[in-house]
Amino acid sequence: MPAPYWRHSNALGTRQIDALVVGAGVCGLSVATELLERNLRVAIVERHTLGAGASSRNAGFLMRGMAENYAAAIQTHGRDRARAMWRFTEENLAILLERGIDALPSFRRVPSCLMAIDTTELAQLRESLALLREDAFAADWLDTHDDSAWASGAALGALVNPADASINPWQMLQHLGAPLRPLIFEQQELLGIHPADARHAGPLASPGHVIARTTDGAFLARHVILCTNAYTPRVLAAHDPTLAAAIAPKRGQMLAIRPDTPYRLDFSYYINFGHEYARQTPDGTVVVGGKRTTRADEEVGYDDEPTEAIQRELEAFARGTLGLEGGVMARWGGTMGFTADGLPLVGPIATPDLPDRAVWLCAGFTGHGMSLAARTAQACVHELLDHGPPAFPLARLSAR
Ligand SMILES: Cc1cc2nc3c(=O)[nH]c(=O)nc-3n(C[C@H](O)[C@H](O)[C@H](O)COP(=O)(O)OP(=O)(O)OC[C@H]3O[C@@H](n4cnc5c(N)ncnc54)[C@H](O)[C@@H]3O)c2cc1C
Repeated sequence: MPAPYWRHSNALGTRQIDALVVGAGVCGLSVATELLERNLRVAIVERHTLGAGASSRNAGFLMRGMAENYAAAIQTHGRDRARAMWRFTEENLAILLERGIDALPSFRRVPSCLMAIDTTELAQLRESLALLREDAFAADWLDTHDDSAWASGAALGALVNPADASINPWQMLQHLGAPLRPLIFEQQELLGIHPADARHAGPLASPGHVIARTTDGAFLARHVILCTNAYTPRVLAAHDPTLAAAIAPKRGQMLAIRPDTPYRLDFSYYINFGHEYARQTPDGTVVVGGKRTTRADEEVGYDDEPTEAIQRELEAFARGTLGLEGGVMARWGGTMGFTADGLPLVGPIATPDLPDRAVWLCAGFTGHGMSLAARTAQACVHELLDHGPPAFPLARLSAR
């Protein structure tokens, strides 16, 4: 919800920096970390508080791959791009490990298991296994297994990513944000971006720079990087309506059940083409999410509130297909930013009202930002600062 006019002040004054990052989710924190490593003066503005968006509301899968399985992704994107994206997600986990997330108590090196409950998906997953192995990715196959997810008999077979991991995303955000704390301005909504000319910046006018106005002040910067994922359409509508429309906000819902009978999941499960997912946390609680596609028309927009209809379906799935018994500990939702082809949108925003290469977008993670954002942030900053060729396979805005 935007801040009312009455909240606006100039308490922060105008701060001169090199780069302003908008949004303190996993993407914004990753972009800021990359920029700091290049010795830039950085600030992060966040409309609410650190991790207020999808980054603290997700399932915590650090999974190789994208929303589609490998065979389907090859159909959609071609073999080279799919292979590059899969490597990208492996590199994403490697970056997060370098940043020390494996020291957090909730981190687990748990394989992901893509479980087929119909024959169409079963065939695609078998094909994916062969294609992954041909492309030198580690992958295993299960026809059956003895943990609780297989007990109902719904599973027909499953593809396993052996090197994946999982984590409490809130804990990960706090960890990534800790070294950046002095640079994070919370309760600061980006209100507008203008060229830093005499009209907008007065005596601070600087060609090629922009001035970004926030709730309590302004930031004069050479670069602004929008890490606003699902909320990007609101931020970009005034500058580039076409690009704004390329990201669609969609709600994902979850619940947590504490089993009251013996229950064990050996994998993080990505079930039914990823439309449902479940994993067990270190204290035995099971988190279950999905069912968005059963009411796709309703699960859109910016409202994070869980709904009775989806929660009922999720609970039925948890108790039926997953065989979970026990009380529901929590129910919640979060807003994801989807692109038409499932790949993030990264690169400079070309609009006549702003200086060339001043404002950048790094967003559109289509429900997989935990598995993509750190590596995508690295690619974005490389393209921004090194002026090198756009970082394959993501820099699609440069090609527009
Ligand atoms: C239920 C659910 C389950 C998921 N499970 C997984 C999973 O297991 N694995 C996985 O990889 N991904 C998962 N995702 C997706 C993942 O959470 C997102 O892709 C990822 O968090 C996106 O990170 P982000 O930093 O780009 O966006 P966000 O975390 O949404 O951050 C954007 C930030 O921008 C701020 N902002 C917006 N507008 C402004 C403005 N005008 N001024 C200042 N700040 C602004 C917002 O307040 C927000 O904090 C899931 C998502 C949901 C909802």
